[in-house]
Order: sequence, then C-alpha cells, then structure tokens
Amino acid sequence: MGRYLPSRHVAGLAAFCYGLAPFYDILPPRSLVMATRPTVVRTVSSLRRALKPFREAGKRIALVPTMGALHRGHLALVREARRRARRVVVSIFVNPAQFAPHEDFGSYPRGFAADLKVLSAAKANLVWAPFSDVMYPEGFATRIEPQGAAKAGLEDKFRPHFFGGVATVVAKLFTQTAPDFALFGEKDYQQLCVVTQMAKDLDLPLKVIGVPTVREKDGLALSSRNAYLSAAERASAPTLYRVLKTSAKRIKQGEPIEMVLEEGQAEISRAGFALDYLEARHALTLAPVKSRKDGPIRLLVAAKIGKTRLIDNLGV
Ligand code: AMP
Repeated sequence: MGRYLPSRHVAGLAAFCYGLAPFYDILPPRSLVMATRPTVVRTVSSLRRALKPFREAGKRIALVPTMGALHRGHLALVREARRRARRVVVSIFVNPAQFAPHEDFGSYPRGFAADLKVLSAAKANLVWAPFSDVMYPEGFATRIEPQGAAKAGLEDKFRPHFFGGVATVVAKLFTQTAPDFALFGEKDYQQLCVVTQMAKDLDLPLKVIGVPTVREKDGLALSSRNAYLSAAERASAPTLYRVLKTSAKRIKQGEPIEMVLEEGQAEISRAGFALDYLEARHALTLAPVKSRKDGPIRLLVAAKIGKTRLIDNLGV
C-alpha cells in the first residue's frame, strides 16, 4: 500500500479505522503505530497500587480529570501533563453530583472504547474510571461547598448545584490520585478558578495548571456538548467567540465596557441564542469590573442555542 499512497494517507486511513479520525491532525502517525493501551483501574486501591512505584521512585504524577467523550481539547491537557510528569493519569467519570435533575446526565455523550484508543495514541499511562458506586458508595455523606469564585453570579446563577458537585468530585480525585499537577481547561474558566482556590484553601500539595482553550477553525471552543448542535445551530455557534474577540479588542482600545457588552449581548441574541450572560470580570477573583483600571479582565459568556448551552471566555 505504501507504494501507492503517501505515508501520511496510510496513517490517516489507519486513524480512521482506529476511530481516531477527528484527532488525526494532532496525532503524529508514529504514535498510531506505537500506541499501547493505558491501564484501566476501577477501584481506589488498584489506582493507588498502580501509582505507588512511581511515587516511591520520586517520579512526578499528573492528573487530567475528564468526563470522557474526549476531543482535542482534552488531549491538549494530556499533552501538557506529559510535558510536566512521568506518569499521566486521566480520569473518566461522568459525575452525577454536578448535574441537576433536569440536565443531561442521562444523555451526556459516553464512548469509553473510543476514549481508550485516543488515550493510547496520546500516551496516557493510566485511566482512572471508577463506577458511580466506587466514587459515591452507599452512605456517602460529605459535600464540599466552595465560596468565592464559585458564587460569582456566573455559572452558579444558572447551575446552583454545579460547583458543589465539581469541588466534591475533584477533591476526591485529588486525594485518590495525589498528583503533583492537575490540568484543567481555561474553557471552563470559573471552574478553573474554583478548583485552584480549593486546592489552595485545603493545602493540597499539588499545582493546578490552566490550559488554553482549543478551538475549531471558525473559533468555536471544542466541547463534548457540540455534538448536540444541529447544522443550523453549528453555523451560528462561532458567534460567541466572535463577540468575545471583538469585545476584548474594543475594551482594550478604551471603549466603555458597559456599552461594548450591551452591543455584544444584542449580537448574540440576533444570532438566535438565548443569552444567560456576557460579562466582564476580574480575571482572578471574578469580581465585577467597571473599567480596565479594576484589574486584569476576563470576558465570560454563556448562552443556549436550541437545547444546547454553550460557554466560552477570553482574556482582554
Ligand atoms: P469535561 O470532560 O468537559 O469535564 O472537561 C474536562 C477538562 O477538559 C476540563 O478541565 C475542561 O476545561 C477541559 N476542556 C474541555 N474543553 C476544552 C477545550 N476546548 N480546550 C481546552 N480544554 C478543554
């Protein structure tokens, strides 16, 4: 076959057969050939047993928490984890505690076999995939309720249960894995702030690292929930990033924040979204800001198109 097809096409075909077509552009063909499956562990004791030799040898461990349905955004976290640590643990757990009863826990995209293939190629070492009753056994009765950034009036206003669920499961993932580094996407910016603060407040001996958002060519932030979008919704979806970019530029040039945001909000609504918020906040505390003098600014947006709720953010 090599005689007739350039090797890149051979690797592309292999990627397609292997279920990796969406990831092909970031996976070097060699990794497809060399891929070895990461070990999958399902209980806390087997997780600790698998990590013990590395910890004892003083090797660094990095954790990438995910809910699966992996895409190139997740893989950017795995790549950064590999840069920092000898052992990369990726957790896959769709956490019921962060979904409200009316939300999409039941229908959230799941594809464990495809995720494993992708993680093989990305050279993750260990997949921590506890069943729900391992994470929350009968009688489980503790919940972490983060304050500060978790009560900023952004995601928390629309998903009041969300950060309690996230903080509780992330605290468990941290104590189960005891990593040196934990990688989170800037895509979920408020979550990144909440988790960073929680690790600090609880004196957890690890460093939380934020990784820049990976986007489609037209600017749409990659998200497992993009799979819900119809063709028409997908065509409108990049409006969010476009508005963030224009607004950031105008604010940087000194235009009044309030006016810029009002115009951005109108543009998002015109594109067919039901807007939850488009706001300018302090990049570290998420406190509201009135002008550029109030500190580094992050613009954050959340809006629903059809049944799908999308979020995004950008630094000014
Ligand atoms: P999820 O599986 O959606 O809970 O996401 C797991 C991790 O991947 C979180 O830290 C997310 O912020 C991160 N993530 C999701 N989408 C992206 C993206 N497009 N770029 C970078 N990180 C992302």
